[in-house]
Amino acid sequence: MHSAGTCLEAAAGGPTLRPLATFASDPFPQPSLTIFQTKAYAAASATAKLASTRIPRRDPTARDVQIEILFCGICHSDLHSVRNEWSSVMPTTYPIVPGHEIVGRVTKVGAAVSKHRVGDLVAVGCLVDADRTCPQCKRDHENFCANGVFTFNAPDAHLGGVTYGGYSQSIVVDEHFVLRVPKNLDPAGAAPLLCAGITTWSPLRHWGVGKGKKVGIIGLGGLGHMGVKFAHALGAHTVVFTTSANKRDDARRLGADEVVVSRNADEMLRHVGSFDFLLDAVSADHDINAYLNLLTNDGTMVLVGAPEKPLNVSAFSLLMGRRTLAGSIIGGIAETQEMLDFCGQHGITADVEVIPIQKVNEAYERVLRSDVKYRFCIDMASLQAEGS
Ligand code: NAP
Ligand code: ZN
Repeated sequence: MHSAGTCLEAAAGGPTLRPLATFASDPFPQPSLTIFQTKAYAAASATAKLASTRIPRRDPTARDVQIEILFCGICHSDLHSVRNEWSSVMPTTYPIVPGHEIVGRVTKVGAAVSKHRVGDLVAVGCLVDADRTCPQCKRDHENFCANGVFTFNAPDAHLGGVTYGGYSQSIVVDEHFVLRVPKNLDPAGAAPLLCAGITTWSPLRHWGVGKGKKVGIIGLGGLGHMGVKFAHALGAHTVVFTTSANKRDDARRLGADEVVVSRNADEMLRHVGSFDFLLDAVSADHDINAYLNLLTNDGTMVLVGAPEKPLNVSAFSLLMGRRTLAGSIIGGIAETQEMLDFCGQHGITADVEVIPIQKVNEAYERVLRSDVKYRFCIDMASLQAEGS
């Protein structure tokens, strides 16, 4: 593994840069790749605190958009990745610059860019590239593309090394993966829509959540609170399951028709066999059988939470009532734009606690204690205070 210094220096020094592949028919060939430096926060190891650093970004190529980052949400996936908790599936390469809930202003565009202009308020989520040719991409499911590139900790085909995320001053992204932010939305509250929003929106839409359905949202954190807002806006009877009794009033304010404190067995029993759909947004180990038993016949429970350790499933929880257990990962780009536009029409944003980047390590500790109401969002202007 690289240390923070060597990896960043190697990338910045130039000799390791690999030029982008260009094609004979390409009307905008990129003769050579040039880079610039930008301020960022990175973790140098699984146990290190995030600290100020500088990272290289490519100058925009023909189809790229350069964005000055205004706000970046803190997703629990940032924590899992920084601490290498997903090492069996996607091990972390250090240094890591997390952040995939990005809202910013376009500062530069490449010659072939048609979707965005300098000055536009735009957003970037969990994906910065995909092959765009496979059956999944052709169906607008870039999130299922085998060659999809995550915004951080994924191989960077332009600069070598890995991609660096949104805890930084600027980012350069292919225009296809840059979203439009509706003008009426608060930019800080809009940032978490790019992961917490789309990750809950996609399964709710796919499984037809709406009027006449009884829907449960498990875990009232960043994802969960967006799930509640969406399920309510889609007209479902919405029930929140929380381990935190002190979140009861908030759950109602966010749109829940009922709130169940899941540590209370009597409250849980009242709902046995009654749910059409459950969305599990819990970040840590928990008993999913207790929830599967709340599904009605042919009901579906979808995991979006991604705990470090495998979950235990009792066969009987699924056999009884022919229940389904499924999973879902973020969403495609078109679907993400649809979700943002829906939020614009309905005035939906995340409830955010805006922090300067210097408080990011403290915020991580609070996320781990389920003490977040309901998404931390970093004001990236605070990076200016860091040394040049
Ligand atoms: P978060 O803000 O930390 O929320 C997680 C919530 O889970 C907590 O607020 C808490 O809610 C509940 N919880 C925490 N520990 C628990 C435990 N031991 N037992 C029961 N409940 C517990 O996290 P997030 O950012 O919403 O992310 C949630 C999970 O989704 C993470 O694992 C993240 O990596 C994953 N994720 C997946 C995708 C995807 O595409 N599938 C995308 C983004 C994130 P209460 O206080 O209400 O109990
Ligand atoms: Zn996320």
